[in-house]
Amino acid sequence: MRILVLNSGSSSIKYEVFEIDNWSVLASGLIEKIGGQGTYLVHKVHLDNSEYRFELELPGVDHRRGFAAIQEELAKEKRLNPAAIGHRVVHGGEAFSSPVRITPQVIDVIRELIPLAPLHNPSNLLGIEIAMESYSHVPQVAVFDTAFHQSMPAYASHYPLPLELYEEHHVRRYGFHGSSHSYVSRTAADYLGIPLDRFNCIILHLGNGASACAVKNGVSVDTSMGMTPLEGLVMGTRCGDIDPAITFYLERHAGLDVNEIDNMLNKESGLKGLCGTNDMRELIAAREKGEERAVLAFELYCYRLKKYIGGYLAALGRVDCLIFTGGIGENSMKVRESSCQGLERFGIAIDPEKNGQQRAGVREISLEGAEVKVLVVPTNEEAEIAIQTLAVLGDELEDR
Ligand code: ADP
Repeated sequence: MRILVLNSGSSSIKYEVFEIDNWSVLASGLIEKIGGQGTYLVHKVHLDNSEYRFELELPGVDHRRGFAAIQEELAKEKRLNPAAIGHRVVHGGEAFSSPVRITPQVIDVIRELIPLAPLHNPSNLLGIEIAMESYSHVPQVAVFDTAFHQSMPAYASHYPLPLELYEEHHVRRYGFHGSSHSYVSRTAADYLGIPLDRFNCIILHLGNGASACAVKNGVSVDTSMGMTPLEGLVMGTRCGDIDPAITFYLERHAGLDVNEIDNMLNKESGLKGLCGTNDMRELIAAREKGEERAVLAFELYCYRLKKYIGGYLAALGRVDCLIFTGGIGENSMKVRESSCQGLERFGIAIDPEKNGQQRAGVREISLEGAEVKVLVVPTNEEAEIAIQTLAVLGDELEDR
């Protein structure tokens, strides 16, 4: 039985077809630059122990026509016919603390949440509406990036702002990357043989976007992203935590309006703002050549990671495991080494040799005997969406 996972973004549609018997990927693909120039569908089929790749130019395509092209490709092979569809939805607000089967009422609520995620929810919703029409007989599930963090206690989810802003405008911390944090925490608990409901960990999801998460007894109790994905760690182009008064200062003294400040904090800051590149590989290469801006960016990035590790150690008390994931977390031994340096007395010590080995799958990089296990766990948000989709539909799918 197959599950199709769809991630419909503002200018892209990504998809994967999972065989749930062994969680293998049977097909995957994407359309990028929707609404721009040079739009292609890249479709890959992984069947019969071989990979078949197909590219199709789709000039001037919109989401609807792009989705039709994907459906046409999937329909060419019976073994790719989905029994269910799982959709990534960025913001579930307070309405959704777990994945849900999509109904007209659910669609209405996702639409009501658009003000909280104006850049993401509209295209997520468009993908849902098109898929509900095109695969009208197939049950579909929405999996929210925010849902995993709905377990945060009020003292972690609120801002110290007038409470009316929460009551009237839903201003609070929601957190994101929930599918990744859920997937890697469960994978790490399994790997270490600790029951999830007794598992405490700190997760550093370090991709272009980055967030830390504190997991207590298997559930999120704090995370670094807030009402939007701008808060928290230093990211590729986002600033993370800054003094909010900087924004007033920029308006009053640098002549920037609110849209320019928004653009700068989201797209021109973080690693890019500090040293001109948001690509950690380029940054590390520049740092090794001694470029001062790259040295500063790397140090600042790792220093702030360390502060979050320290904060979450204090918040959790007992920590079984520290997890690195995402493109940087999985691949950069230097970031792992630097962000954990000096934490030995808190039970975190990395084995340099293990840290330097690049292997696929989950791997342990802590020193033998260290109190806190340090793991590298490759994330798989699409697999998590498929797993959650199956969990929601379970019995219903078995009857089909
Ligand atoms: P996204 O959030 O867009 O999914 P990824 O999780 O793919 O991003 O992470 C992208 C980041 O991972 C980039 O900064 C990239 O430079 C970094 N990265 C990938 N491979 C390596 C590597 N070998 N060493 C250091 N950084 C790496």
